[in-house]
Amino acid sequence: MTDPQHTLRRDAMLHPEMLDPGPGEGAQRGGRRLDHAEGQSKPLRSRTPEAQPRGAVIKGDRPVDQAEAADRFIGATEHEKMHDERLWDLRQKRDRETHGLPEWEELRNLASAIKEHTLANLDKYLDQFETNARAQGIHVHWARDGEEHNRIVLGILRDHGAKRLIKSKSMLTEECNFRDFMKEHEVEVIETDLGERIQQLDGEAPSHVVVPAVHKLRTDVAAVFAEKLGSDPDNDDVHYLAERQREATRPLILSADAGMTGCNFAVAETGAVVVCTNEGNADLSANTPPLHIVSAGIEKVIPTMDHLAVFVRMLSRSALGSPLTQYTSYFRGPRRGGEMHIVLVDNGRSDRLGMEKFWSSLKCIRCGACMNTCPVFRRSGGLSYGATYAGPIGLILDPTFSARKYSNLPFASTLNGSCTNVCPVKINIHEQIADWRKVLAETHELPLLKKGMMKAAGALLANPALYRAALPVANSALRHLPRFVIYNRMNTWGRGREVPHAPKQTFHQWYKDNRETKA
Ligand code: SF4
Repeated sequence: MTDPQHTLRRDAMLHPEMLDPGPGEGAQRGGRRLDHAEGQSKPLRSRTPEAQPRGAVIKGDRPVDQAEAADRFIGATEHEKMHDERLWDLRQKRDRETHGLPEWEELRNLASAIKEHTLANLDKYLDQFETNARAQGIHVHWARDGEEHNRIVLGILRDHGAKRLIKSKSMLTEECNFRDFMKEHEVEVIETDLGERIQQLDGEAPSHVVVPAVHKLRTDVAAVFAEKLGSDPDNDDVHYLAERQREATRPLILSADAGMTGCNFAVAETGAVVVCTNEGNADLSANTPPLHIVSAGIEKVIPTMDHLAVFVRMLSRSALGSPLTQYTSYFRGPRRGGEMHIVLVDNGRSDRLGMEKFWSSLKCIRCGACMNTCPVFRRSGGLSYGATYAGPIGLILDPTFSARKYSNLPFASTLNGSCTNVCPVKINIHEQIADWRKVLAETHELPLLKKGMMKAAGALLANPALYRAALPVANSALRHLPRFVIYNRMNTWGRGREVPHAPKQTFHQWYKDNRETKA
């Protein structure tokens, strides 16, 4: 017989969704199927799956043509629709979570102030972090750039005779081109984050800082796994695919010689590293092999555990619209009998700290909220940016790595300000994007055509009389010109959009006719 007290206690502890299994496969397992954006793309069974559009074509240091890659992504209509819907779903979940916290704006102010204070005293907190980490038996290394980071890690691996490294997702290692470097030096690197592993198997970089394979349809994943892991190419069920990947990767994890994680926060007060994941893969990477190496950007340091509490409340809410990441792991020293190393990497961060207009981009906690809300990112996919960081935050960070190579990126924005509104650490993203446009125009990093057009537009907009005279002419032209004059190969803007019908009169004209005379 059921104990009513027991039932009551159990009901009080469980979420209503756990007590009310919905229909479908999940119900047979005694719980609802996960309502997660990554599992929601529709399988394509009735015809040939749409080919996955690839990212920007990189030609050395030449400016990345984001618009060309975005065109191809938009042309793959199923991918574009799915990508837009998945990210908008994350944005909505984020809104629900943040609106549920009355103190959300207070938290944002606090987070922004903590980051600004820490960045203003970065040398002091990094010293404190190093002292406390060393006191816990952690080896601390400093790397000026990506190359030095890779060499330090290779040296540690060689000292231990390590040939296989399991790695938890880290954007910093992408910045350092870590996987390619290790391949050249015959160290096998296995990603343990599912999305990142998919990207690794497909020979692609992550397209998003939180959900690296978010641009892929289930059919794309099925095709990659069929080719690389020998799974059934016609089965794109997410549970089947996740299981095949687990079966293939677990033996590699268990036999790895070393593990690597990134670092979400480095707490100066304790010398500890905090890593947030939803799959527990950082814990696998850190605890399975005896050697744990952490890659950490120098801007990840925060002063105290109290400050950590603020960021932990904000990170997952902003990223995925969930109250917390499933695993928030706190590494304060090597595991018993093991060894732990931290490589603190600069890679341009000190230079960025000295940039009057752009230093506050160092506050970023890589939640990806600005990407999920950005209409350009949602419709063009992260790989179209051809850079480690895509979306609004990428538009600010990338030109600090190479103003020439990423000179087109700050123009891949509508400057609508939504990114700034959702940013949990209050970075004025859209203003910095506009500032980059000015800097690039002043430093001659723009193509002549774009520069000429911007100059002409600037002159027109700065002269109200000229602007008012030009507007009726333009409106009349829009109404009467044959379509091919507006929609042609030269006008890339018009390829993806219809110009709205031109109004019969301008607002100024209407005001003159209706108000001025009556006043
Ligand atoms: S800029 Fe702000 S919103 Fe964008 S990833 Fe960084 S912290 Fe998140």
